[in-house]
Amino acid sequence: MSERIRLEKTSSPKAKPDFNKLGFGNHFTDHMFIMDYTEGKGWHDPRIVPYQNLCLDPATMVFHYGQAIFEGLKAYKAVDGRILLFRPEQNMRRINISNERMCIPPIDEGFAVEAVKELVKVDKDWIPDAEGTSLYIRPFIIATDPYLGVRPSLTYQFIIILSPVGAYYPEGINPVKIYVETNYVRAVKGGVGYAKTPGNYAASLKAQVEAHEKGYTQVLWLDGVERKYIEEVGTMNVFFKIAGEVITPALQGSILPGITRDSTIQLLKSWNVPVTERRISIEEVYEAHKKGLLEEVFGTGTAAVISPVGELNWNENIITVNEGKTGELSAKIYETITGIQYGRIEDKFSWTMEVK
Ligand SMILES: *Cc1c(COP(=O)(O)O)cnc(C)c1O
Repeated sequence: MSERIRLEKTSSPKAKPDFNKLGFGNHFTDHMFIMDYTEGKGWHDPRIVPYQNLCLDPATMVFHYGQAIFEGLKAYKAVDGRILLFRPEQNMRRINISNERMCIPPIDEGFAVEAVKELVKVDKDWIPDAEGTSLYIRPFIIATDPYLGVRPSLTYQFIIILSPVGAYYPEGINPVKIYVETNYVRAVKGGVGYAKTPGNYAASLKAQVEAHEKGYTQVLWLDGVERKYIEEVGTMNVFFKIAGEVITPALQGSILPGITRDSTIQLLKSWNVPVTERRISIEEVYEAHKKGLLEEVFGTGTAAVISPVGELNWNENIITVNEGKTGELSAKIYETITGIQYGRIEDKFSWTMEVK
């Protein structure tokens, strides 16, 4: 894919929102990237056009059978004014892993990174620069055949939209209360849990709503077969620090392989903190707590980076983690990853990519 990206600039730029009251996913920039796929022709006609509605036939396959994938990453305004992306090639790698599972044709990963850079450059005035804010980047692919039979589509659209977002922790990083879900499951081995595909999120809504009603921020998912082994927390990967060792569930097909998860593991290794990827049961976590060995619990993901867990409720057995406060290691990982993202500390891992 070496085709040039055509640029059609908007003639009526929108008024910018108040950058102090952004929230998450509420505002969209002036432009979007689109590229089409047609069987036999491949991916073609990459273009950056004014942000606009899609016009799709009601029979379009994605509406009926959910053949689609998405990604999420951010552009950061560094302290020295540079625009930085964090490991974008990993997101594009993951698009192709999700595509493969969903029978969507692969994209050119390098070209997709270029498309993100071009689009961010066109809308660079939309990158907020207050502490903790960023420009959220949402690439996604949808099946576009107007057809009601169940089969892979023969046409697709790859689209990228941008959304300026506020700080995830405007009042400082704060531990959350998590409900251990023993009724609903998110994914099973052999299913689509490792793919970033919309159906996984539709399937998770009911558990999330019920947890909210009980006063919890998110659910902790257990494995779909035995309801015993820990998988993820909400839409984040999860880590437990027990007696000095950091443990995270191993990737075995039902867990989303997070880029923040991978970065966290690499950081811990570089600090010589023991870190293990293995099966871990909810029972083991409660046992460790009983013995006074459960030191920290935290989630990892692009949106929050690190989300400390202060309380767990498993079948109405409630435990408090680290007195409900953010753990020392959780805070150090948060400071390090965000420090690299905003160019405050040296990027020893070459994780950032400048947009220029
Ligand atoms: C996106 C996502 C994550 C986190 O992945 P990052 O690459 O770290 O943002 C974790 N779990 C689920 C279910 C996700 O969708």
